[in-house]
Amino acid sequence: MRVLFAAPGHYWKAWAPALRAACPEVELCRDGDPAGFDALIYAPGYPEDGGALDFTPFTRARVVQSLWAGVERIVTNPTLTQPLCRMVDPGLALGMRDYCLGWAMRAHLGMDAYAQDGVWRNGQVPPLASARRVTVLGLGELGRTVALGLAGLGFDVTGWSLSGRPVEGIEVLAGPDLPRALQRAEILVCLLPDTAQTRDLLDAETLALLPRGAWIVNAGRGTLIDEEALIPALEDGGRHAVLDVFRHEPLPPGHPFWAHPRVTVTPHVAAETRPATAAPVAAENLRRAMAGAPLLHLVDRTRGY
Ligand code: NAP
Repeated sequence: MRVLFAAPGHYWKAWAPALRAACPEVELCRDGDPAGFDALIYAPGYPEDGGALDFTPFTRARVVQSLWAGVERIVTNPTLTQPLCRMVDPGLALGMRDYCLGWAMRAHLGMDAYAQDGVWRNGQVPPLASARRVTVLGLGELGRTVALGLAGLGFDVTGWSLSGRPVEGIEVLAGPDLPRALQRAEILVCLLPDTAQTRDLLDAETLALLPRGAWIVNAGRGTLIDEEALIPALEDGGRHAVLDVFRHEPLPPGHPFWAHPRVTVTPHVAAETRPATAAPVAAENLRRAMAGAPLLHLVDRTRGY
């Protein structure tokens, strides 16, 4: 089986050994005749000239396996007719859980009130986690893991998803209940994909539904939040935003988010796809593709995620 590694050059060093170890029967290539490949391993940023990859000549490819969970940069490519699978990997989910729980805890405990300025401020006692209402937008592979982690810490967790599919142990709201999900969110964790339906979902009107003093943690995609509306919503409502993802990445040096006291920027580091845990997932799909077996984590093109 010949597989094209269609990812930026710097991925190769870590991924090639992991993929070869997970799938020794595969001949992993960095280039070659497109018509000779049975599959592609893909990551955004390929090709490195900035153009869109033309999938048309990959006439034999049975699967395109993304190394990323978010597939918005490839799912709309009109030349892509091969099945597209996104990355669902236990390491990714646990990494995201750690990131979101860390920020939720910092918000919950009000750690930022304690500055090292020689002032003894001991008047603030946070409520117990059970009295802290947290909402998670998006209850997919990542959102579910984060929501259950938060519930495990004792938080009062509500989740929101398109379908409202139940998740044991937490209250789940569906699409039209977004206002309810937001109104209760003292801490709002956002883990939604970038689709036509989620773009600018958090605008001036919906951000205004959040309680005063709410914390927003966005680790899904930057397009979720109307950036123009965010700063006034933070300033007027005494709110804070922790943003890992942005409309334009890297976030330009002069962008107001960098210096705003109510915004914390992290540079798209919430959850990395780690070769050690993800390569076996990719390998399993390559094997399935060759055997004609059902593929795992197929992207639904009509939904875009
Ligand atoms: P997923 O399994 O596809 O889950 C997506 C969730 O969003 C599902 O619960 C889905 O609802 C919900 N959803 C989609 N469109 C919606 C809409 N219009 N209204 C309400 N809910 C909607 O995705 P995942 O693996 O959890 O990943 C989520 C996103 O995280 C990825 O798409 C990616 O953009 C981002 N991500 C970020 C990082 C980082 O480092 N910052 C790392 C990995 C991934 P249903 O359950 O009803 O389908």
